[in-house]
Amino acid sequence: MSLVYIDGTFYEKENAKVSVFDHGYLYGDGVFEGIRAYNGRVFKLDEHVDRLFDSAKIIALEPGVTREEMKKIILTSCAKNNIKDGYIRPIISRGVGDLGLSPYNCKKATVVCIAGSVSLYPEKVYTEGMKIVTVATHRNYNESINPRIKSLNYLNNIMAKIEGVQAGSPEALMLNTAGFVAECTGDNVFAIRGGILYTPDVQSGSLDGVTRRTVIDLAIARGMKVVEHCMSRVDFWIADEFFITGTAAEIVPVVELDKRPIGDGKVGAQTKALIADYKAYVASNGTLIPTL
Ligand code: PMP
Repeated sequence: MSLVYIDGTFYEKENAKVSVFDHGYLYGDGVFEGIRAYNGRVFKLDEHVDRLFDSAKIIALEPGVTREEMKKIILTSCAKNNIKDGYIRPIISRGVGDLGLSPYNCKKATVVCIAGSVSLYPEKVYTEGMKIVTVATHRNYNESINPRIKSLNYLNNIMAKIEGVQAGSPEALMLNTAGFVAECTGDNVFAIRGGILYTPDVQSGSLDGVTRRTVIDLAIARGMKVVEHCMSRVDFWIADEFFITGTAAEIVPVVELDKRPIGDGKVGAQTKALIADYKAYVASNGTLIPTL
């Protein structure tokens, strides 16, 4: 049995429903997070809740709950669903309104939390690496829907995902409107060259990934130099190693981009080392899920 939190009450999965007049449904007007639990702990809870509230603030959405209340909702959702290792999806949408798009007719935000599981890619991509392509759909322009907002409107990424999958690519590299690398459809991107770790700065058009930040910290702890700056596709074509990061995907090695092998076309040693560091780190860090 799976229990879903909606506005103060836990419902069985089959009865977990929100109104079709919620602007989250009508307009994709809302924000969300994707969080993992490992070993009975919620990983980077504060960081995810902070990003959720930042996203809400950017779209001028008043969540109606405090950060502390949201953390409690997430932890209680895990406890009620006996989550030890899992995936949590808090959602705050604009709430019920009328058929006009104005958010000012929505009285109160709808707060939802789903605690379940996720598995994105087959095990093989972690050991053998992924082959991906760049797609023509550009990442949103910063001054339209800023990619730092984790909003319910994921059409930009979904359009790119469709293009990638149609080209046989399970993830897809997206460029910004200036032609520089932004990120993948649901993951941040990293290149390693000459022992230095490079990743596009968030102003290039990416979500400020929690996994991204964790990997940067782990790389620094291993003594690697980390550079966050504007990058082009060429930087990835000529990289020694390439990997992508995300809460659900974790760290996925990329061994081919646009039919060019990355390095020797095999999963790189430094990527393998960072994957091992990441696994060890997530296993022992996080906020304990309470017993009810
Ligand atoms: N970029 C996008 C567009 C995402 O949706 C995500 C989350 N799936 C990421 C990057 C990675 O962010 P995080 O490491 O915080 O999950």
